[in-house]
Amino acid sequence: MNTIMSTGLQQRDKAVNWHPYTQMKTADDIIPVIKGKGIYLYDAEGKKYMDVVSSWWVTLHGHSHPHIAQRVFEQLNTLEQVIFAGFTHEPAIQLSENLLELLPDNQEKVFYSDNGSTAVEVALKMCIQYAHNQGKKKTKILAFKNAYHGDTFGAMSVSGKSFWTKPFESMLFEVVFIDTPNAENLENLQNQIKELVDETACFIYEPLVQGAAGMLMYKPEDLSQLMKFCREQGLLLIQDEVFTGFGRTGKLFAADHLTDQPDIMCFSKGLTGGTMPMGITTCSNEIYDAFLSDDKHKTLFHGHSFTANPLACAAALASMELLLNEETQVNIKRITQQHSEFIKELGLHPCVENARQTGTILAFDFKTGQGTSYFNEIGKKLYQEFLQRGIIMRPLGNVIYLVPPYCITAEELEFVYRNISEVLDQFKA
Ligand SMILES: *Cc1c(COP(=O)(O)O)cnc(C)c1O
Repeated sequence: MNTIMSTGLQQRDKAVNWHPYTQMKTADDIIPVIKGKGIYLYDAEGKKYMDVVSSWWVTLHGHSHPHIAQRVFEQLNTLEQVIFAGFTHEPAIQLSENLLELLPDNQEKVFYSDNGSTAVEVALKMCIQYAHNQGKKKTKILAFKNAYHGDTFGAMSVSGKSFWTKPFESMLFEVVFIDTPNAENLENLQNQIKELVDETACFIYEPLVQGAAGMLMYKPEDLSQLMKFCREQGLLLIQDEVFTGFGRTGKLFAADHLTDQPDIMCFSKGLTGGTMPMGITTCSNEIYDAFLSDDKHKTLFHGHSFTANPLACAAALASMELLLNEETQVNIKRITQQHSEFIKELGLHPCVENARQTGTILAFDFKTGQGTSYFNEIGKKLYQEFLQRGIIMRPLGNVIYLVPPYCITAEELEFVYRNISEVLDQFKA
């Protein structure tokens, strides 16, 4: 019965649904999921999978968490949605208060949207209009090579050029890409920035980990130095914590590893514990004040139908309660510790290159002759092999990574490590 159910869902899906980042012609069978609980997803045939990629890096506390479900349910029966222009509500006020409490102390205002890309769009518009409102025209933006900030046009513009953005290249705005900082290149980067600073509205970056590019990591000390220099030059900083926020780096935010502060920050993904779509852009009062005026033209004319949706706010509040409780904090430390033990062993394997870790994020390159690329065929084979073993891993080309929900137990994590070692041995042979 179950196989029939599964096949039925697959056929119906194929007839109507177009999936993200998927070549529909050559895609492997798409798996209908009927239930999620903790770190497990259950397919229509009753097979369970360990979701160690947190369903595209969003799930923090496991699937269908009862505490979040309860809060959303209560909110749904109280106030499900209200226009956020001219109106407000307790969950949005409380969420802003709670979030700002945890951020660098210069972050003082919260602007709501509904996903990571829109959080980035809002940040970019704030910076460009910040200059405009002061009668300045700043048309360039600075970003890192290999960056990923989302899939809308503005977010694509500030993302590294790749075959993902190729068809749209001529329509993207002007962005200057620089290397991520290290001990050797800092002076060089500073010189490049000096040249551009007068025409540049802002610098946007993923702090510590460039996720979508393949979990590329760089040092907090080097970023702190670069941030300090940019601020001295008067360049606005947008810190995109859409991925790194809410515990992924071992601390609550990547900001907690840094000694300098950004002007603007972006959040999404783990914000609601991965239950509801929501984006947040926070900023300093310096930015906010540049939009205060009797002149209506200086208003930030941006908004989405579901701005500060009360259900998403309730989910975020519930998720942040869970995140801050001691059990979760202990789990984050434990996962970080387990990863750092495993990485020692992993680094010795002949198929492994660049084993690396930032907090709960573990990644390595599977050594192939072809170089690291999203099209790397090995990724597809490894994906299938792990699926067979009941583990959802979604290699980025030949980069294999783990971004588990924090509720994963020590034993479950050991099980994943054991399977990685076995698969590596199998592919070596
Ligand atoms: C995923 C991601 C985004 C885009 O978020 P969406 O919700 O997928 O639009 C932006 N920035 C970073 C760093 C991301 O990892």
